Amino acid sequence: MRRIAANYIFPVNKPPLKNGIVEIDHNGAVLNLIDTKGDFTESRNLEFYNGVIVPGFVNTHCHLELSDLKGKLKQGLTHPGFIQEMVKFKKSHTIESTNKTAFLEDDLMKRNGIVAVGDIANTELTIEVKHKSNIYYYTFIEVMGLSNNSEKIIINGLDLLKKYQSNKLSSSIVPHAPFSVSPELFERIKSLAIQTNSIQSIHNQESDSENQMFGSKQGKLVDAFLTLGINLDNWKATGKNSLESVIDFLPNNNTILFVHNLYSSKNEIEKICKTFKNPFFVLCPNSNYFIESKYPDIELFMNYSDKITLGTDSLASNTSLSILDEMKTIKNINSDISFETLLSWATINGAKALKCDNKYGSIEIGKQPGINLISDFDFTKMQITDKSSIKVFA
Ligand SMILES: [Zn+2]
Repeated sequence: MRRIAANYIFPVNKPPLKNGIVEIDHNGAVLNLIDTKGDFTESRNLEFYNGVIVPGFVNTHCHLELSDLKGKLKQGLTHPGFIQEMVKFKKSHTIESTNKTAFLEDDLMKRNGIVAVGDIANTELTIEVKHKSNIYYYTFIEVMGLSNNSEKIIINGLDLLKKYQSNKLSSSIVPHAPFSVSPELFERIKSLAIQTNSIQSIHNQESDSENQMFGSKQGKLVDAFLTLGINLDNWKATGKNSLESVIDFLPNNNTILFVHNLYSSKNEIEKICKTFKNPFFVLCPNSNYFIESKYPDIELFMNYSDKITLGTDSLASNTSLSILDEMKTIKNINSDISFETLLSWATINGAKALKCDNKYGSIEIGKQPGINLISDFDFTKMQITDKSSIKVFA
C-alpha cells in the first residue's frame, strides 16, 4: 500500500481536501481517502508532494491511428483545406509507421496522466496497441459516404467492429460528420445504435463552411469535395444549418458525444440538450486553433457544465495528446473558470460520456481512477499555470 499526500487532493466528487492523504494498493485501487484537516499526526510511510492530486484524465476525442501525421500538416489551413490535405496524407500511411507512432503516443498519453480515451478509428491499425495498453479505450468505428452504397459501407463497418470486439475492445459504429454521411447511411447507423444502445459520437460544426454547405450547397467545403472528385449530384442542401439538418438522424436516447461545436450557436446547444437524453459536448480547443485559428466560445456552454468533456483530437492537428495542455488553453482563454470546473470536464464528465465512471473519473474508495500529481500549481489563484506538469502515481 502507498500513502500519498499533497497540498490538496481534488477527489472531484466532493470538495478538495487540504493536506489530504490517498491510500492506494499496488494496482492503484483507492483504499482510503483521509481528510487530515491539515494535521499530519498519522504520518507513517507517508509520501508528501508539493502540488495537487487529481484523478486520471479522460480524453474523449482522439484519432490514435493518425499519430504518424504529427507535424506533417500546416497550421491554419481551415477545415476544408485540412480535409483535402488529410486525404493526401492518409494515402501515405503504412502499418509500420502507424503502429510505431501509435505505441509511442499511447505511452505518452499514459505519462500525460490519461487513463481513458474515446478514440475514432477508420481502420484496424490500432487494435494491437489498444489491446496491449493499460489505458481504457472506447473505439468509435467511424463510417462515412455520400453515394448510394450505404449497405456496403455498413457491412465494412460491422466487419471492423467485429475485429475490435473480438479483441475485447469496447466499440460502436458512428457517423463521421453531418456533411459526410448520406441520409440513408445515417438511418442505418441510427437503427444499429438504437438496437445496441451504443455510445455515439459525431464531429459537429467544426467549420462555418459546413453550415454553408447545408444552407446553399456552396462554400469552401463543397469546393474541397469537388476538388477531391466526390460526387455531390445526389446530395441536396436543406437551407438550414448542419445540426438542424441531421438532428433527426441521431438517436435521442443514446449517449452522444458532439465533438468541436466550434460554430454552434447558443440556440443549437440548447436544442441538443432538449432533444437528447444524454448528450455531451467535447471541446478540443488546441485542435480548433490549429485548423481554424479559432477557439470555442466557452461561455456558450457554461449552462451545461456537467455535459462538457475534453478531447485532444489527433496529432494531425495538435502538438500533443495531453488533456492538461487543453486545460491550460481553456484557462488562458477564459480566466474566470475555476480549476474544479475544468477538472470535472477533464475527468468525471468524460468518464460518464464513455460510461466508465464505475472505475474512472473521481478518487473514491473502490475505484481505480489513476492518481496524478499536478505540480507548479498556483495556490493563490487555486489554478494550474502554464508551467504545470504531471507526475503519474497510478
Ligand atoms: Zn476528430
